[in-house]
Amino acid sequence: MDLKALIRDIPDFPKPGIIFRDITTLLRDREGLRYTIDTLSDKFQKANLIPDYVIGIESRGFLFGPSLAYQFNAGFVPVRKPGKLPAAVHSMEYDLEYGKDKVEMHQDALPPNSKVVIVDDLIATGGTAKATADLVNKIDCELLGFGFIIELKDLEGRNKLPDVPIITLVDY
Ligand code: 5GP
Repeated sequence: MDLKALIRDIPDFPKPGIIFRDITTLLRDREGLRYTIDTLSDKFQKANLIPDYVIGIESRGFLFGPSLAYQFNAGFVPVRKPGKLPAAVHSMEYDLEYGKDKVEMHQDALPPNSKVVIVDDLIATGGTAKATADLVNKIDCELLGFGFIIELKDLEGRNKLPDVPIITLVDY
C-alpha cells in the first residue's frame, strides 16, 4: 500500500519553510490504518522484537502505540510532556533547536526487567525519542527497539538513538 498517498503534506506548518507530514489523513482511512498497524507489528515480529510494554510518545505516539500493544498482548505506557502525569514521575530534559523540553513517565509504570519498545508517528531530529530512551535507561528495563511510521532521513535522527533495531514504514 502507498502510505505516502495517505499522508498529507502541509507546507509552512507550524512555521514557514517546514513541510508538516499530517498523519490524520492516514488514520481516518480504514484500510490505511489497518495496514499501518499490521505492517508495523509484522516488522517488529520478524525482527524478534516482542515487548511486554509499548511506550508511546505524546501525542501522536498515543495514536499508534496502543494498537501495536494490543497486537502483542502487551501493555501501553504513555510518555508525556511535563506536568501532565498525575503520579510521581521520572523526567528527562533534552535540547530543542531553541531552548529545552522535557519528557516524563510515571515512576511505577514499568516493572523491573520489562522488555519495551518506543513508538512515535515520526522521527525528525531524534531528540524526543532519544530522551525517551534515556528515561527507560534510568530504570532496569530492556529497550528492544523503536518504531516510527515516518522517518525524515535527512535529519539523521537515528544516529542519536541507542544501537537497537529501528522499524519505520515511510521515508522522506
Ligand atoms: P524530533 O524530536 O525527532 O525532532 O521530532 C519528533 C517529534 O515531533 C515527534 O513526536 C513528532 O510527532 C513531531 N513532529 C515533528 N515534525 C512532524 C511532522 O512533520 N509531522 C508529524 N506528524 N509530526 C511531527
